[in-house]
Amino acid sequence: QNSYKFVVAGGGAGGIGTAAALKRIYGKDATVAVIEPSQTQYYQPLWTLVGAGAVDFETSSQPMEKMIPKGCDWLQTKVETFHPESNSVVTSDGDKISYENLIVALGLELRFDMVEGLPEALHTDGVCSNYSAQTVKDTWKCLQSFEGGNALFTLPITPIKCLGAPQKIMYLADDYFRKSGVRDKASIQFCSALGVIFGVKKYAQELSKICEKRDLNLNFRHNLVKVNAAQRTATFDILNADGVSTGETKTMEYDMIHVTPPMSAPPALRQSTSLTDSKGFLDVHQYTLQHKRYPNVFGLGDCVNTPNGKTAAAVAGQLGVVMNNLYAYIYGKSMNASYDGYTSCPLVTSYGKCILAEFDYNAQPLETMPLNQGKERYFSYLVKKDILPEIYWTGLMKGSWYGPGTIRRILHLGMSK
Ligand code: FAD
Repeated sequence: QNSYKFVVAGGGAGGIGTAAALKRIYGKDATVAVIEPSQTQYYQPLWTLVGAGAVDFETSSQPMEKMIPKGCDWLQTKVETFHPESNSVVTSDGDKISYENLIVALGLELRFDMVEGLPEALHTDGVCSNYSAQTVKDTWKCLQSFEGGNALFTLPITPIKCLGAPQKIMYLADDYFRKSGVRDKASIQFCSALGVIFGVKKYAQELSKICEKRDLNLNFRHNLVKVNAAQRTATFDILNADGVSTGETKTMEYDMIHVTPPMSAPPALRQSTSLTDSKGFLDVHQYTLQHKRYPNVFGLGDCVNTPNGKTAAAVAGQLGVVMNNLYAYIYGKSMNASYDGYTSCPLVTSYGKCILAEFDYNAQPLETMPLNQGKERYFSYLVKKDILPEIYWTGLMKGSWYGPGTIRRILHLGMSK
């Protein structure tokens, strides 16, 4: 079969959630294809804890075969290019797949290649990254073998998924080094291309206090451009307040370095400019999530150009909006659902503590629980470690979790947005 009512591009958080919801809403007669090349699906948010040795890598994955919702066709291939003018996509097998409606959820491409020397440096002593399935286990090895010296944690200038993850692993490393008795021999450096520790004031204030108290050094406007594994050095481009290079560079020695790689929109999108903005991201209306030029195309997740924090939590908030507005579009009704930019970032600050940031497009807190989530709490750590993975596998991946909005309004007795 090469013609479907719905084609879903990508089988990650957004794609599988979408396919499951489509099957539930439109029933067995609606044809749905999921185009996804991978054999395995990962719950990536757990990788922060995998890197810190707090949970096993295996608990973060499921076979893709099990994830594809019943009744959907799994096309195990890649979208090579999109052709929205003819309502079709071409796959890397050369097949043309036509659709009535297209939902794009391709995530982000990790760009280790954008840092000179980094691809070669991966898997060498002291170099690790929680961001990929291939490198996350190296982080735990790095923490265990660290005997003191410089520990660097980087954050690039490009858009990335989970903006908090580059610093979460620093807090966990600090905690681990205290337990393993090497902390007084360590200098911990957070090297971020951005100018603030976090984009939401309420949480940024708490995190700054934690960094000060625990002697975690903050180096802002530092963008990693080169890693020399032989000499164990990392070179940073120093940026100005607009994020532009000043031409100045700084080289630091490392005994371990946790790299958050630059990221970009996936190649299939970058090569299909009729669907993207100038940066290669899917060009959708930020409130309706409908494509700006092709009304039968919707998008969600990391690959869309909405200005929210790119997380699985955001995917849940977007899924309900896409389902409601797609339905309205198909039946010629007005689209009433609006995405408020909801995203969440459980900022794990040690083994057993977490600040549970939740906020909207305006960087205003939008907390689910009627207590101050800006404080470090054990309960928030349990939410991150045990409750959210369960919600992901049994709620979002079944297409039935649209985020905590309703729970939030009930817990706040109707006083919250
Ligand atoms: P993905 O889940 O990445 O899925 C994209 C899919 O598209 C992949 O399966 C890929 O194989 C497929 N694909 C790519 N190209 C093609 C193609 N050409 N054709 C077909 N398929 C293609 N989120 C949180 O909510 N909370 C957290 O605490 C958190 N922490 C994180 C920590 C780390 C270390 C990482 C890496 C991520 C974290 N996230 C967190 C982010 C979260 O995992 C992502 O935001 C979420 O997975 C986005 O879903 P998505 O569907 O857009 O992309």
